[in-house]
Amino acid sequence: MRLTMIGTGYVGLVTGVCLSNTGNDVICYDVIQEKINTLKNGGCPIYEPGLTELIAKNVKANRLTFTTDFAEAYRDAQMVFICVGTPTGEDGSTNLSYVMKAAEDIAGVIKELGPDQEPKVVVMKSTVPVGTTVAVRDRIREIVGPSIPFFVADNPEFLKEGAAVQDFNYPDRVVVGVDEERAGELMSDLYEPFVRQGHPIYVMDILSAEMVKYASNNFLATKISFINEMANLCEAFGADITRVREGMCADKRIGNQFLYPGLGYGGSCFPKDTLACISMGKQSGTDTQLSQAVHDVNQAQRERFFEKIENHFAGEGTGGGLSGKTLAFWGMAFKPHTDDIREAPALSMMSWAKAKGATCRGFDPVAAENVEKENPGVYEIVPQMYETLRDADALIISTDWDEFKTPDFDRIKNLLKGAVIFDGRNLYKRSQMTEHGITYYSVGRAPVAPEHAVS
Ligand code: NAD
Repeated sequence: MRLTMIGTGYVGLVTGVCLSNTGNDVICYDVIQEKINTLKNGGCPIYEPGLTELIAKNVKANRLTFTTDFAEAYRDAQMVFICVGTPTGEDGSTNLSYVMKAAEDIAGVIKELGPDQEPKVVVMKSTVPVGTTVAVRDRIREIVGPSIPFFVADNPEFLKEGAAVQDFNYPDRVVVGVDEERAGELMSDLYEPFVRQGHPIYVMDILSAEMVKYASNNFLATKISFINEMANLCEAFGADITRVREGMCADKRIGNQFLYPGLGYGGSCFPKDTLACISMGKQSGTDTQLSQAVHDVNQAQRERFFEKIENHFAGEGTGGGLSGKTLAFWGMAFKPHTDDIREAPALSMMSWAKAKGATCRGFDPVAAENVEKENPGVYEIVPQMYETLRDADALIISTDWDEFKTPDFDRIKNLLKGAVIFDGRNLYKRSQMTEHGITYYSVGRAPVAPEHAVS
């Protein structure tokens, strides 16, 4: 099939590349010239394992092209996928301006092609509030008039950044929402290579398909806020969340995924999709107390952790506050295996620490460039993880990248001015810290404070 992706971000690019890999002719369109130039020059504007190689393979096979010209992108496409951002607006509702702009551009091209064209399928891949795909259909109809045929479909995406290619190629399920049978058939044909191994494709009504995405993300966000609340109770009563987790997650009904205590969720999806549910609740007069609580617990979690840092430095013998201190952050992406820094807990804490007069240094294996791009000259970005520690007052673990899991603790201790680690991801055993004489704070576990380690 001839397909066009509108928006070549994490979702549009991965979707376009993976669909070209099954033999479709795909055009990836974006309004950002720099992204398209990078792609045309054989580069990849995002970090996603396996993606660069797959782009090269499909470009070479002449199945994958890139453009900033929307008329060229839409003219011959049989299916057009809207993959643009749907960020949270100022009032907490979803900003649909990018979606609507894309829909209007498509409508203009459909109108120009006239009534004899093969009906295009306009597929909503962006995560959108329930009712948006129907609103898009109505807007296109308004522009093209009553006699020109086209279809719409909602096709929420469930890939995880950092494992996006794998997730797209081997989805747990594919969800498609349609209001006409033919659109469902075309979508099922397109996804057939991805569900061959028995994973289901669920074709349903459009409103339910849109809601599946929010229900899924909000459930995962709920698990994270839940375990963080339990971790906070563990701290209050001297229990150890690591042991509690083990005991709890052995129950098959509970399972062990998305139940890691830490700094709370970040990224471009969970925070915004939780807020979107709250906003849909307000709009419809439906109580969304649970979504609100999930959001509130999440926001409080990183603040609570930052207070541990502040309290440590406010203590006797630790130098009267954060002003003049140097903090070394390991990990700035919102999670490992991605360069995405949207809503990253590390960046919240770095900005708060800076506001209190601290100097913040940061290391991240792939997200450092984005941090510098978004905050030019604000933080000291260090290309080598141990170098962040030289004469710093503390190390803060903010993303659980693999390379942080078994570091050289003697080296850490020798480089730091004060042997203190704030571990927002519970990467280390408390016994290791006692052994190495490091003052250690984590989440849901008692701190370790060897007397000789406090500077
Ligand atoms: P992104 O910000 O990485 O990419 C969006 C792209 O759309 C940008 O490159 C932007 O320049 C482009 N764009 C904006 N308006 C355009 C227009 N009118 N025409 C052409 N291009 C335009 O966003 P993303 O992370 O890929 O997310 C896209 C959607 O997918 C969102 O609704 C998001 O919630 C959803 N989603 C994201 C993920 C994820 O892990 N990132 C997973 C599932 C679903």
